Amino acid sequence: MTEPRPVVSVQNSQPTIEGAGVRLKRAFGYYEAPHLDPFLLLDDFHSADPRDYVAGFPWHPHRGIETVTYVIEGNVDHGDSIGNSGTIGSGDVQWMTAGGGIVHQEMPREHRGTMQGFQLWLNLPASNKMMAPRYRGITKEQIQTSTPSKGVGVKVIAGKVGRIEGPVKDLIVEAEYLDVEMSPYAEFDHKTRKGWKAFAYVFGGDGSFDPANRDKVGTENLLVFGNGDTVVSRAGKNGLRFLLVSGKPIGEPIAWRGPIVMNTEKELEVAYDEYWSGRFLKHA
Ligand code: FE
Repeated sequence: MTEPRPVVSVQNSQPTIEGAGVRLKRAFGYYEAPHLDPFLLLDDFHSADPRDYVAGFPWHPHRGIETVTYVIEGNVDHGDSIGNSGTIGSGDVQWMTAGGGIVHQEMPREHRGTMQGFQLWLNLPASNKMMAPRYRGITKEQIQTSTPSKGVGVKVIAGKVGRIEGPVKDLIVEAEYLDVEMSPYAEFDHKTRKGWKAFAYVFGGDGSFDPANRDKVGTENLLVFGNGDTVVSRAGKNGLRFLLVSGKPIGEPIAWRGPIVMNTEKELEVAYDEYWSGRFLKHA
């Protein structure tokens, strides 16, 4: 017996200014995070006007989290304090574990046409907040597409769909990250682990997710799912594209200031003291 997950909330991503003046849409963040454990934030960057994004995210620290950058269209140059530098291009993913501390920059390049990308923040449990930072660059060639049903293509970044397993493995917080593309009126039922938190973020077309309620959702809608074991998605007449993300809740207190997320206020104070006195990087 499958147990379809109900949609417990639908909201629109909200215009926000981040970094050095990047105009983006925030699907969820600080205020919603307690309801999305282990996820902290999801930002959607998309614009046809380079002035909205070229200011980028110059050098800044992170501690206690993972940041997952997925570029749909465009190029983001990056560099970090553990010696990585390069470009995240269309279809590529950067899965970065800040652990005890990293300083990095993320700079979208001027792009002809619409640039689009996402950044997801995953929390780390207390036991891993101070681990050595880790960086994984995944190119689009490493991300395979599963075709679980007619008219459905799923790029598997982390997790498993059919026989296709995502290239991002050995995660600290177990999670699944999928990019689902559906043709008009296609149907896709996907098993998600019971007890895990699950959400979808729509960035193309329209459709519905709630088995009991065929309400239409569309671009820039964030849907949070309730308990169950299956996410039920149905594309509308324009097809449907969305991120489908699920993960195992951590269940620990969250103390969050800017790019650093710890368990206690004291740990935040220590982090910022260390940052401003040049003692932040433990593993440079
Ligand atoms: Fe960052």
